[in-house]
Amino acid sequence: MSDVFADLVGQAETVATLRQAAAAAARVVAGEQVAAGAMTHAWIFTGPPGSGRSVAARAFAAALECERGGAGCGECHGCHTTLGKTHADVRFVVPEGLSIGVSEMRALVLRAASAPSGGRWQIVVIEDADRLTEQAGNALLKAIEEPPPRTVFLLCTPSTHPDDISVTIRSRCRVMALRQPPAEAVAEVLVRRDGVAPEVASWAAAASQGHVGRAKRLANDSEARGRRDAVLSVPRRLTGVGACFEAASALIKAAEAEAAEQLVETDASERASLEQALGAGGTGRGAAGAMRGAAGQLKDLERRQKSRATRSKRDALDRALVDLAGFYRDVLVTNMRAPVGVVHTDVATQSEAAAGKWSPESALRRLEAVLACRQAIDENVKPEIAVESMMLTLWRG
Ligand SMILES: [Zn+2]
Repeated sequence: MSDVFADLVGQAETVATLRQAAAAAARVVAGEQVAAGAMTHAWIFTGPPGSGRSVAARAFAAALECERGGAGCGECHGCHTTLGKTHADVRFVVPEGLSIGVSEMRALVLRAASAPSGGRWQIVVIEDADRLTEQAGNALLKAIEEPPPRTVFLLCTPSTHPDDISVTIRSRCRVMALRQPPAEAVAEVLVRRDGVAPEVASWAAAASQGHVGRAKRLANDSEARGRRDAVLSVPRRLTGVGACFEAASALIKAAEAEAAEQLVETDASERASLEQALGAGGTGRGAAGAMRGAAGQLKDLERRQKSRATRSKRDALDRALVDLAGFYRDVLVTNMRAPVGVVHTDVATQSEAAAGKWSPESALRRLEAVLACRQAIDENVKPEIAVESMMLTLWRG
């Protein structure tokens, strides 16, 4: 019943285009002639966080490897292994830290140039392609400029802005722009796919502002709900300068705790498996040299883990800021009587009360302070400083 595109919520046009391309790709594999441009070797998937960029790339990769004429049936071996990330011809690049390096990219490009073992396509999926280093981008560009006949590159980035992806790479790719899925579509998929109760699904879909993964977490994970409640209590706690600094410190500590909680298990198991692979504690001929090499590899792992921790912390803080921005947006739309729904229905009494107290200009200044804070952190301003300054504006208005 549900094929590989079923989880792509509210993206009918994109799905139609990808289906056509996958069908054309299957004809190429069968040795038939297809119209020029019917299949493309390099694609960029853009869209706001949670709109399903990587879901779209993975579904398309599965359709390309599908054994039933590129249908993306979701049932054959090609579909299954691609979706499960175990297909021999499909490689997923997920940056561990803040950027994807050049050596990693060169190795990938080299492997992608070999003939597909399954007889269809060699596919490289690069999630967060905006985190490519400049050199890695150049290595990728060479491959995209002269693609091997059966190689496909699928890149995911937030946008095609030059900050996210170089203009030259972008000019060689076909761009699929995903939109923020409407709340009703998100709620529908939570009910159908994840068995969430309809009223919980509607609330979570609105509160997550179209972010499918976040909606699912809010619906199923009481700790995620607790963290959100704490963030939404910030506006009423800002009663003075001291309270602003306290709220800033609490917000950052909560983001750190959330990130640490998510990483502690992965970090430990990565270290354990590396130590096991290196045979820690070995003796005999060559052991000293091997140990020196092992120390280097452990250092390398620690470096990557540290970089990943920084990124996780930023992502957690950003999620909190998006929730907070939603609250001030609700105040503003209530204030202006805009004909749109509120994001945080469960604290609507609070946003209504604030709308009665603040002028639209004052509500807007607060919303802008949250957005400015997100941008400052994105531009590497120290989170403590950005968040404290934001809290002061949220208090004064
Ligand atoms: Zn299939």
